Amino acid sequence: MYKLDSFMAELERKNPAQPEFIQATREVIESVIDVVNENPVYEKNKILERMTEPDRVFSFRVEWEDDLGSLQVNRGYRVQFNNAIGPYKGGLRFHSSVTLGTLKFLGFEQTLKNSLTTLPMGGAKGGSDFNPRGKSDSEILRFCRSFMTELQKYIGPDTDVPAGDIGVGAREIGFLYGQYKKIRDENTGVLTGKGINFGGSLVRPEATGFGTMYFADEMLKAHGDTIVGKTIALSGFGNVAWGAAVKATQLGAKVVTISGPDGYIYDADGVGTEEKWAFMNYLRTSNNDVVEPYAKKFGATFVAGKKPWEVAVDMAFPCAIQNELSLEDAKTLVSNGVRYVVETSNMGCEAEAATYFIEKKIPFGPGKAANAGGVAVSGLEMSQNAMHLAWSAQEVDEKLHAIMVKIHEACVLEGKDEDGYINYVKGANIAGFKKVADAMVMMGY
Ligand code: GLU
Repeated sequence: MYKLDSFMAELERKNPAQPEFIQATREVIESVIDVVNENPVYEKNKILERMTEPDRVFSFRVEWEDDLGSLQVNRGYRVQFNNAIGPYKGGLRFHSSVTLGTLKFLGFEQTLKNSLTTLPMGGAKGGSDFNPRGKSDSEILRFCRSFMTELQKYIGPDTDVPAGDIGVGAREIGFLYGQYKKIRDENTGVLTGKGINFGGSLVRPEATGFGTMYFADEMLKAHGDTIVGKTIALSGFGNVAWGAAVKATQLGAKVVTISGPDGYIYDADGVGTEEKWAFMNYLRTSNNDVVEPYAKKFGATFVAGKKPWEVAVDMAFPCAIQNELSLEDAKTLVSNGVRYVVETSNMGCEAEAATYFIEKKIPFGPGKAANAGGVAVSGLEMSQNAMHLAWSAQEVDEKLHAIMVKIHEACVLEGKDEDGYINYVKGANIAGFKKVADAMVMMGY
């Protein structure tokens, strides 16, 4: 019999100073411990011990020269977490906050998320403490070349397929893929999120944002409700927030906030227009990385240094980074009448915040279910590359939609409490876990 506290104490002992990894694993183990204890085959196969230990971790030095001619040194990583159900798959994050513990939490989450997508993909994550903010294109290029020169030793289209994440978008994927191709002379699509003219998939840039809205739409339907007319607070102003705002607007909801490192924008008219997003995109990529100018240009309100969780809305979608929504924020949202919360960033809510929503019986979609649309379309990109063909946007979007509906169904199946409350955290964790655990049992150690 596994006991949560003693198992977690041992895991903490083995992984010191990795609080995010401990937070992510604790949440999952809390959800699955009864399932594990009811199935002795899992204990016999040491499933919890094996699933919380990455298959392997690569750490490497990345040297590059800045525009002033000085040599810079960063640390790169690839955490290959679990390949029980398919090749390792997961993004690369370039952000100053990246540590091994961050990437282990993300790789662990990715394993369960990828399992939920219904596609055959294992879980991985990688990246660097390199911060692309304020760097010139040539600096980014030199960094990416150096990073890939090392990373290419560990990846391959049937082994490990990286993609983007925070700080790694179309530009970085292009540079990374270019370097891989130079060294290996292969066009196998070893990265996803590529440009359309060299093997990328249509709808990939919007996929995480579209997917989270499809998932939210299913949540509302399951509660006899509709997304039409709902007001939404989003954080972030990158690809993910953009896709979510576009899809929310198409479905008849109104997104009234976005946020950047400098604060948040409240726009009562809604942020989901092409013109507004083109401007946001300009702000993000012109190295200003601030949202404030949006307020002046479009007559909206800018609130400096704060997050959008103080705005009274029907639905909240953290779309920026882990632990961006605290218990205090959760209490404010609930007292202002929030009715649904959909985590779109990975582990966007602090553990206490997620628990608070669940205690208050607010339907709460966890990131590993709600944001799985991004990696799902990455999986579809892999299929297209393997078949050497390209699907239409409509075809990809229909497949993405069908996948999000299936993920929602799986969460309801495993997560419905006796009182009828759908505990999406429990549902996603159990559904994602079982598939990987069963595969590991069937393949032996
Ligand atoms: N970084 C994204 C995620 O967290 C996408 C990963 C991918 O496409 O492989 O799921």
